Amino acid sequence: MLDINHYDKDNVFAKILRKELPSTKVYESEYSYAFKDINPVAPVHVLIISKGEYTCFSDFMNKASAEEKNDFLNAIIETVRILDIEDGGYRLVSNVGIDAGQEVPHFHVHIIAGRKLHAKC
Ligand code: AMP
Repeated sequence: MLDINHYDKDNVFAKILRKELPSTKVYESEYSYAFKDINPVAPVHVLIISKGEYTCFSDFMNKASAEEKNDFLNAIIETVRILDIEDGGYRLVSNVGIDAGQEVPHFHVHIIAGRKLHAKC
């Protein structure tokens, strides 16, 4: 079960940040890292993660500094620009907790694009 107050240092994204697991980088900044999703649901599927140890969006908003939050939002739009998906459109998703089906307990936002995305959620 995801415990938003307990950060698991052995989660997959923590290992990616420590370079113990490979990833395909799209963008990197001081506090954020963007890389391709290993199991894409659309032609474009990129994950933005905080470099800080936050379990989910709520944890990030509760504990991260204003600088980290600003950096993260900027990382999203920089990644969107690198991917060149503004004309066609894109979806941002952040799953939080059990009901949303969050699999990796490290804060991340999905950028999904490259085809018509039918379901609204
Ligand atoms: P979520 O359900 O929001 O926690 O999404 C976790 C996402 O992480 C899924 O879309 C997975 O395909 C993706 N994922 C899991 N392991 C890796 C990995 N090693 N490299 C890239 N993406 C991964």
